[in-house]
Amino acid sequence: MDTAVPAALNVPLTADLLFESSPDCAKVLDLQGNLLAMNRNGQCLMEVDDLNQVRGLPWMSLWPGESRSQIEAALEQARRGQLGHFVASCPTVKGVPKFWDVRVTPIQGADGQLEGFLSVSRDITALQELLRTRERAEILSEAQKAAMEQAVSGAPLEQVLGTLVRAAEAYSQEAMLVSVLLARDGHLWHGAAPSLPQAYIAAIDGIATGPSVGSCGTAAHFNKEVIVSDIASDPLWADYKELALSHGLRSCWSQPIRSPRGAVLGTLACYRREVHAPTPAEKEAVALLVNTAALVLDHRREIEERKATQEALRRNEQRFRSFVTATSQIIWTTDAQGLVVEDSPSWRAFTGQTYEEWKDHGWLQALHPEDRQATLSAWQASLTAREVFEVEYRVRHADGSYRWTTARGVPVLAEDGSIREWVGANTDITERKRAERELHASRERFQKIVSQAATGVVQTDPNHRIVLVNRRFCEMLGYSEAELLGVSVLDITAETSRARTASTIAQAIEGGLNLMIEKQYRRKDGSLIWATSSVSALRGAAGDYEGAVAIVIDMTERKQAEEELRRLAANLTEANHRKTEFLATLAHELRNPLAPIRNGLEVLRLAGDNPDTAAKVRDMMQRQVSHMVHLIEDLLDVARINSGKVELRKEKVELRAVVTNAVESSLAAMDAAHHSLDLRMADESLVVDADPVRLVQVLGNLLTNAAKYTPERGRIELSVGREGQHAVIAVSDNGIGIPPQALPTLFDMFTQVPNNAGRSQGGLGIGLSLVRRLVEMHGGTVAAASPGEGKGSTFTVRLPLTEQQQLHAPTKPKWAEPVGKVGAALKVVVADDNTDAAESLSTVLELSGHETWVAHDGHDALRLVLERRPDLAFLDIGMPGLTGYEVARLIRQTPGTESTVLVALTGWGADHDQEQARKAGFNHHLTKPADIAAIDALLAARAGTYHA
Ligand code: ADP
Repeated sequence: MDTAVPAALNVPLTADLLFESSPDCAKVLDLQGNLLAMNRNGQCLMEVDDLNQVRGLPWMSLWPGESRSQIEAALEQARRGQLGHFVASCPTVKGVPKFWDVRVTPIQGADGQLEGFLSVSRDITALQELLRTRERAEILSEAQKAAMEQAVSGAPLEQVLGTLVRAAEAYSQEAMLVSVLLARDGHLWHGAAPSLPQAYIAAIDGIATGPSVGSCGTAAHFNKEVIVSDIASDPLWADYKELALSHGLRSCWSQPIRSPRGAVLGTLACYRREVHAPTPAEKEAVALLVNTAALVLDHRREIEERKATQEALRRNEQRFRSFVTATSQIIWTTDAQGLVVEDSPSWRAFTGQTYEEWKDHGWLQALHPEDRQATLSAWQASLTAREVFEVEYRVRHADGSYRWTTARGVPVLAEDGSIREWVGANTDITERKRAERELHASRERFQKIVSQAATGVVQTDPNHRIVLVNRRFCEMLGYSEAELLGVSVLDITAETSRARTASTIAQAIEGGLNLMIEKQYRRKDGSLIWATSSVSALRGAAGDYEGAVAIVIDMTERKQAEEELRRLAANLTEANHRKTEFLATLAHELRNPLAPIRNGLEVLRLAGDNPDTAAKVRDMMQRQVSHMVHLIEDLLDVARINSGKVELRKEKVELRAVVTNAVESSLAAMDAAHHSLDLRMADESLVVDADPVRLVQVLGNLLTNAAKYTPERGRIELSVGREGQHAVIAVSDNGIGIPPQALPTLFDMFTQVPNNAGRSQGGLGIGLSLVRRLVEMHGGTVAAASPGEGKGSTFTVRLPLTEQQQLHAPTKPKWAEPVGKVGAALKVVVADDNTDAAESLSTVLELSGHETWVAHDGHDALRLVLERRPDLAFLDIGMPGLTGYEVARLIRQTPGTESTVLVALTGWGADHDQEQARKAGFNHHLTKPADIAAIDALLAARAGTYHA
């Protein structure tokens, strides 16, 4: 082993021993400062394995460059015989950093010559560390203290956090760039980062936390420390590494800042420009700062919360104050005995009383005289019972009016339970009282209206049970009010209307409006009535269903009227239908005879000289004309009967004569169809009080119908008999019969059995109607019977017999005798502006052997009558010049015309026509076209051979 002290130096042995035994690193340097020797301890400290490695090297070369000036200064010091001293760091030869306290002294020879230097370096690394640690701890505690002070004194948060951040950076000797981010709503916002580049801060401000959002975003998300020693390679930084690296940031270690309850308030991140993982000491130091930051933030939050609470309180108070002002409440206090001893500005303001007036019991004077006694008693009762005082009374307002108030006083108890004072308030309730009064009045009005209403009113509870009914509703249903209360409306509703009623109520509950329902109620007596009911829901203040009110109108009468109307309309339609059909039939029936008549005329024109042909054609024309006349007469009769203008010329009539005439009138029809007619007459003579002409018409119609509605060679029977006080005439046939459904309306006007072959038989459907009317006019009845279609029919006429049953029958009807046979030639004037009518009548008369003159206007007619003085004059009424009436009047004004029989010819045989004709001086009145028989009768009468 090398000796530490070189032999060249004359170092005494003791020195040599000292050198070797020094615990420090002792070195001998030559005058140039090269290393000559190093003691063994020194080699250990400097981790020199082989002294030869360093021997001869300049001592200075073992030091880091920055220490050189210090070394040179120390050597210089020693050269001057003094002690050179410095403290510096120098790593061992193996690179372990160390701190040294270095002392350099000169080595002098015996002659005092400087021979070299002795350098003793003491390893003070541990000491230095200690100092360093203390220094850092101081930085941290200073920062903590400063930050807390700032926080308490209300410094801006960024400044407080900045203090902590700067401390962390100082602690790391500026190796770290520290930032605090604050957590809010899942995002991180800038808190303090004085050393980070502004652009970087701006780029991450507001970043959302998440499971892999750099170090801070992730730390905040998981609420735990995140260490990223190399941003370039860590997947947590995948999205942000470009950003960080571009700002020279390489590692980032972030810790959550937690509130005392563990919630994440923010993060504190330590960046470095190199790859780095925090040492335990760093972790410990930063943890301190993080805790401080947590305290600061928590404190801040607490302050903010307190502020918010205070603000809310302040607002509440403000609200309360405005509320008190707005309610114009009167607040007062009294002593324990109930005496006013303290001023109440609000009472004074309201009543206008002075304090002097109001104190003690003075306040009573401000009350309405009528309310004073009751109020005082109530107050005294409360005082005695120590219970809340609550009373309504009127107070005279400063403006002189009395206002209703409600007063409420409560006892305030002292700690020992005795009453200390009373505190009370009066509220002006005048408006409420007025509203109550109005409500009451309106309720009364409403009740009056309801009870007197002409419509039914019923109110139900939520279960449809009746809670109110008015008189009208009770009347409608036949129950008393007591019987209806509590009953479900559904129970008084007809079964058929229940479902509809329930659904209407359901709609009302759902909020339906204007709900109208037409329904049937069942009355107490079981009968049903129709009603319309309009239903509205009743709702409470909260909008909940409280029942329903229904306004009910009895519709029974209206329903009946509707029903009646419907029936009438149906009847009208039916009548209208029959009338239309009738008109078609009428047109047809009137046109039918015209064709043969027109043909007949043509035949007469062509073969007028041939007496056989002429006779045949005349017969045919005669038939057609009488058919038409018959039709028209029926029609006119119907019209006359309808307007009540038929008068019966009743006489005692023997039925046999009537029957004979009727049979005669129908013989032509019977013969044409080759029917056999069976006549069964009662043996006794049956006399009725009747118009014989009308009775012949009745039986003639029945017989003609029997002939018409019976196929050829049928059997028709006419029987006349007696049943008690009635004569019974039955006409039966074995013809087409009548279906049962047609029987009820058979006698109605214009009725013809549908699809009945009779239609082709011609007819207007008025014959039977005429029969019934005429029979009824005679006080009789007529009925039809038929076993069914194809089985024949029987028509039975019943007529009351005369009481005497006297025979008084002419053997021949007076109007049936042909006049030509018995009369003499008469002079006759015929006047009609219808030339054909005039000429044809004149021709008929001439043929019968009379002498005629024809006029076509009133003047001619007058002239002819006055000139010729005829036995008879047939005068049309509607003539040019003078009307028939005027002509008659003028004739009658001429003396000597009395023997001339004047006969009026009119279109209508109405009574007033006849009356007018009589007044004008006419002797007779005939309806056009006048029946030849009637004319004959008149001629005969004039001729004096037949007396009417
Ligand atoms: P019409 O002019 O059609 O004959 P009526 O009033 O005389 O009118 O008769 C009414 C209807 O009654 C006829 O159209 C026919 O259908 C039916 N009728 C009348 N008499 C008979 C009868 N004897 N047999 C069958 N049907 C008859």
